Amino acid sequence: MTSKFPIEFIKELQNHFGEKIAEKTLKALSDTSSVSIRINPLKPIEGFSSDTPIPWSKNGHLLKDRPFFSLDPHFHAGCYYVQDSSSMILETLLNKLKPERDGLYLDACAAPGGKSTVLLDYLNNEGFLLSNEVDGKRNSILREIILKWGRLNVGVTSLPTRKFIDLNCAFDLILVDAPCSGEGMFRKDVKARSEWTPTSPLDCSIRQQRILTDLTPCLRAGGFLIYATCTFNRQENEEQI
Ligand code: SAM
Repeated sequence: MTSKFPIEFIKELQNHFGEKIAEKTLKALSDTSSVSIRINPLKPIEGFSSDTPIPWSKNGHLLKDRPFFSLDPHFHAGCYYVQDSSSMILETLLNKLKPERDGLYLDACAAPGGKSTVLLDYLNNEGFLLSNEVDGKRNSILREIILKWGRLNVGVTSLPTRKFIDLNCAFDLILVDAPCSGEGMFRKDVKARSEWTPTSPLDCSIRQQRILTDLTPCLRAGGFLIYATCTFNRQENEEQI
């Protein structure tokens, strides 16, 4: 089972978490991905309520099968967003931290937009979200998702993070869902395994550090910086924090 993963990745997993947890993680990464959605509270739809609710997300549902989303008009109308249940943990975090709802929020690495929709649901028409994606192609997808989600207190930008200091604003909350080596994607996307190299964590951590250095001065004193990756290694997570 382990031969499907880069050997350096396995070694680091074992060093970091110990043999037992590493084994369990590799087993989980070899399983089929689950399919989950979060329903847009502005456009509630029936039909998914019989599927398993996700305890850490009010509108999240784990589906039994993967439907043909592209054939469903509700999907195109932004009635729900197809999102990994792990990404929905942001909702729990917001409910625990309780940042002010009338604040100014920044989602700095936002495309395709899943976490921006979580932030918008939390804001619930108060405050303002700046949803930013530097990559032009991904920014178009982000704009479409945000438009369909149907909230008015949001703007989409396409700025490199070093430019935010020029805006002269103090954000109450900044989310950095950072570009990373994607070890958490090894289950869903087999290509992620072949794209990973032993230097990916270091390369990515340098980029992440730059992003964090650019954005930290844009946070108001007492504000929240939420940092997330979809990878397991220390360099991009604990050491980055
Ligand atoms: N938050 C998104 C969501 O929930 O749908 C996923 C974000 S993805 C993990 C990271 C994003 O960071 C990608 O869209 C990528 O284009 C963007 N990115 C890549 N390099 C970047 C950089 N140097 N500065 C800011 N964002 C970058």
